[in-house]
Amino acid sequence: MNQPEAGHLEAECLEADYLVVGAGAMGMAFTDVLMTETNATVIMVDRNHKPGGHWTTAYPFVRLHQPSAFYGVNSKPLGENKIDQVGFNKGLYELASAQEVVSYFEQVMREQFLPSGRVRYFPMSDYEGDGHFVSCISGEVTKVKAGKIVDSTYMNVTVPSMRPPPFPVADSMTCLPLNDLVKVTTPKEGYVVIGAGKTGMDACLFLLANGASADDICWIMSRDSWILNRANLQPELITEELASPRTGERNQWDAKDTNDLFDILESSGQLLRIDPDVKPTMYRCATVTMAEIEALRSIKNVVRMGHVTEITNSEITLEEGSIPTTANVLHIDCTADALATRPSVPVFSGNQLTLQTVRTCQQVFSAAFIAFVEATIEEEDEKNRLCTPVPHPDSDIDWLRTTLGTMQNGGIWASVPKLQQWLMKSRLDPFTQPPKEGESTPGFAENVGDMLKGAIRVNELYTQWLGKQEQA
Ligand SMILES: Cc1cc2nc3c(=O)[nH]c(=O)nc-3n(C[C@H](O)[C@H](O)[C@H](O)COP(=O)(O)OP(=O)(O)OC[C@H]3O[C@@H](n4cnc5c(N)ncnc54)[C@H](O)[C@@H]3O)c2cc1C
Repeated sequence: MNQPEAGHLEAECLEADYLVVGAGAMGMAFTDVLMTETNATVIMVDRNHKPGGHWTTAYPFVRLHQPSAFYGVNSKPLGENKIDQVGFNKGLYELASAQEVVSYFEQVMREQFLPSGRVRYFPMSDYEGDGHFVSCISGEVTKVKAGKIVDSTYMNVTVPSMRPPPFPVADSMTCLPLNDLVKVTTPKEGYVVIGAGKTGMDACLFLLANGASADDICWIMSRDSWILNRANLQPELITEELASPRTGERNQWDAKDTNDLFDILESSGQLLRIDPDVKPTMYRCATVTMAEIEALRSIKNVVRMGHVTEITNSEITLEEGSIPTTANVLHIDCTADALATRPSVPVFSGNQLTLQTVRTCQQVFSAAFIAFVEATIEEEDEKNRLCTPVPHPDSDIDWLRTTLGTMQNGGIWASVPKLQQWLMKSRLDPFTQPPKEGESTPGFAENVGDMLKGAIRVNELYTQWLGKQEQA
């Protein structure tokens, strides 16, 4: 058997209209719209053995952070739109587990894409660029002559199980990705959760839901986070008691400056934080329920000393200090970046498409939307005007940048009726509402006014903040 490094087997050449690199959620959502809106043929290539991308290696207890109702591909519902009756998500729309997400994408591939005769799928295959991919098993090289190449790997999603902890760990100590929490068979002296993004929150919630007392958990939080309340992200409005407490009535667009803005966003229930006394500096679209935030607040041993730099035989060293630990404590690595903030590049560039988010934190929606633009708009400049990337947020101030980008795109989309028609019908878009009953003209005209007003104010606040940074 030839080894790839020893020289590839002779190349076969395949032809298709599109080569989609990556059969993760974005590659699948993109291809699905090509299937419904065009007659194009597609070759899909992925290193994994099945579709679903990072969901195939996610921690076993992960669930979608947003309702299944608007996740997956446009042509096929995910889940049954049920309301959860138990657990932290009680009262809200169901959240698919990783297993459900992966099984769903397998069904889409096996029951829709492949039977269409228009999609050929090459799992366990590494795209090496330059129009060829290599089988991870046989080393066989396949050349592809494609009209267009769609890169769905640009977002570069990383989860803890994909790499070792990013700091040295003494041999006697145990530091595992949160995937391995389900393998714990004997109680530990304590649990140290390293990382305070959504993955860290999920690790804490898993421990609490499975019998750990809050006092058994030490939570290393290098940054506090602004968090979204899932009750605000439902296909339809949910009862008041699940919403965040509202302590103020001011409109966010009346904010004097960015500090004032975050006060208003919090008092109006749009953003949450774990500790009301610590001002968050991070915003990454982490999404929780009020029940989850209450549970997370029960953990009092929160260490705010920056990033972990090492776990030695007796202590955890951090950027700004150290804390004692022992070999009987389980250290849980939740530090992977998941979605990094990558520099935006044009989505459409000649025969190359680079999938990115065009609505903040809505990856699958964005991939499907880009496919619709690809299928229905001719000019490259116009396609790029409609698909300005909105890179993933990281810092608190990114709330402004991503909100502005999302509003600006939304305003542009509202002026293109065929996009509006698609958005209103798309199951991946719960936000664009059809015109109100009895109105002859599309209702979005009115929304555009609000959107533009908001966008202007966000822009002012963002510019004001940038000016202050420059002065500092
Ligand atoms: C824990 C967690 C929960 C999340 N929950 C939600 C949620 O509720 N809602 C939401 O909208 N988003 C959520 N996200 C964001 C999520 O990342 C996106 O929804 C989506 O799954 C990203 O898919 P992707 O296709 O961009 O990336 P990936 O899943 O990383 O897929 C990329 C694929 O490309 C393949 N690949 C890469 N390079 C190559 C190559 N050279 N050759 C061949 N194949 C290659 C990889 O094998 C992989 O299968 C969550 C993310 C995490 C980490």
